Amino acid sequence: MHETSLMENILATATSTLAPYNVKRVNEISVIYGPLANIIPSALEFAFEALTEKTIFAKARFVMRHVPIEAECLDCNKSYEAEQVPFKCPYCGSNRFNITGGTDVYLESIDFDDDDEI
Ligand SMILES: [Zn+2]
Repeated sequence: MHETSLMENILATATSTLAPYNVKRVNEISVIYGPLANIIPSALEFAFEALTEKTIFAKARFVMRHVPIEAECLDCNKSYEAEQVPFKCPYCGSNRFNITGGTDVYLESIDFDDDDEI
């Protein structure tokens, strides 16, 4: 299940992002995923819960935000967004395109409290 290794990468990124801080509590971790990322959201959520047990992320809320596919038309060069394949350019109707976004899963934000707060 590749959701587990994806989640490991996301948590590794989150951990190194938080390294300079004196983290008291992580409230929320937010992740972005595109329709072409080929993930099952519930599996990612499950991986989060399984991997964060007994870590600073254990009590954090896990939020997933869906973003559309981004494509660039090869005929009129305009960029557009789409929800699913197949799609065509809303400007010229062409079905020749480069996919420029919506293929990834990545860390969007971390909400946390550190010990310096009063
Ligand atoms: Zn076009």
